[in-house]
Amino acid sequence: MSEAEQDTPQPRRDGQGGRDQGPRNVALDRQNPDLLVSPTTDRGTVPNLKFSFSMAHTRIEQGGWAREVTQRELPIATTLAGVDMKLEPGAYRELHWHKQSEWAYVLTGSCRISAVDQEGRNFLDDVRAGDLWFFPKGVPHHIQALDEGVEFLLVFDDGAFSENSTFLLSDFFAHTPRSVLAKNFGWTPDQLDRIPEREKYIFAGQVPPPLDADRVVSPTGDVPRTFTHRLQQQEPVRFPGGSVRIADSTGFTASTISAALVEVEPGGMRELHWHPTDDEWQYYISGSGRMGVFASSGVARTFDFQAGDVGYVPFAYGHYIENVGDEPLVFLEMFRNERFADISLTQWMANTPPQVIADTVNVPRSLIEALPKEKRSVVR
Ligand code: MN
Ligand code: MN
Repeated sequence: MSEAEQDTPQPRRDGQGGRDQGPRNVALDRQNPDLLVSPTTDRGTVPNLKFSFSMAHTRIEQGGWAREVTQRELPIATTLAGVDMKLEPGAYRELHWHKQSEWAYVLTGSCRISAVDQEGRNFLDDVRAGDLWFFPKGVPHHIQALDEGVEFLLVFDDGAFSENSTFLLSDFFAHTPRSVLAKNFGWTPDQLDRIPEREKYIFAGQVPPPLDADRVVSPTGDVPRTFTHRLQQQEPVRFPGGSVRIADSTGFTASTISAALVEVEPGGMRELHWHPTDDEWQYYISGSGRMGVFASSGVARTFDFQAGDVGYVPFAYGHYIENVGDEPLVFLEMFRNERFADISLTQWMANTPPQVIADTVNVPRSLIEALPKEKRSVVR
C-alpha cells in the first residue's frame, strides 16, 4: 500500500468494516468523516440533512450570480429554501415580488434595498455585512450593490420556492401588450419602444447616490415596521462555549422568520436541544461543525459541515453541534415562525424532580441536582 493510500480515510472501526479500494470520491469522504466512520451510537435510517451550495447550479449573469438550495436539492427541507447571491458594485437584483416571504443576511459588502407595501408606504435602506432584511410575501422590492459589491443569503418560507420563478418587472412589461401598458400609465405606445423583450433578473448598473438623494416621499408615509435589523450590532447572549444573537418578532417585529446567529468557540458545543415548534434550516458561515441528530426509535445519524453548507433538522429531533475545528464555528439557525424556541435537555433535566432523572439515566442524584437551571445554549 502506498503512503497516499495509508493516509486515505477508510470505512473501518474497531476491527469492523474494511478498506475501500474504490471507486470512491476521497474529497467527499474527507469532508464527511462521520458518514464514512460514524460514532457507534449512530443507527438506522435518517433522511439526508445536508446539502452544500457548492453542489448547486450557479446561475451566472452580467453583474452577479445566484445559486439555491431548495426542496429539490434537499428533499426534507419543506419549510424553508435558501439562495446565495453575489452582486458586483452597482449591479441590480431586479425589481420583483414573490409568493413567499423573504428573509436575508448580508454576508459581505453592502447594498441598497427598497420596497413598497399595499398602502403605497415605502421603505429604503442600506445594509451591510451582519444586517438582516425581511420582505413580506407579495411585497415588491429590489436590491442594488453599493461600491464594494455584496453577497447575501436569502431564506424563503417555502421549501418549494425557486429564485428562477419570481415575478419580475421587466418580464411583466415584456408580456403585456404595449397598448395596455400605454393606457395603464397614460403614455403613448411609441414611448415604450425600448422596453426589454425578456426578464433582466440580475444586471449591471451604476453605484447609486447617497441614501438621502435616492429617497422618494410617499403621501402615505413609510412602512410602519422597519424591514431591516442590525443583527451583528446586537449585544450577544454569552455562554461558556460561545454566544448567540437571536432575531425574532421580539426585536425584529416585521419578520415572520426567526433566526439565531451562533458562534461556538473551539472546544465548544451548541448544547443538546430540540425545537418544540418548527424544523430548523441552517447555514454554515465559517469553521467546522459536527451535528448529531436523534430521530427517536433508536435512530440517530451524524453529519459534518463547513462554510457554505446547509443543514436541516426536522421538528422535535434532538441534536447538538460540536466545533471540531481550531477556529470559531459560526452558523445561522432559521425557523418558519415569528418566535425562536428551543428546549434545552439540561434545563429540562435540572428543573424536573432529580430522583426521576436519576432513576431513568442511572447517574447519581447529586449530579442531577448540580446541573444549571438556567439555559446554557453553548457549552464547553
Ligand atoms: Mn425577493
Ligand atoms: Mn437547533
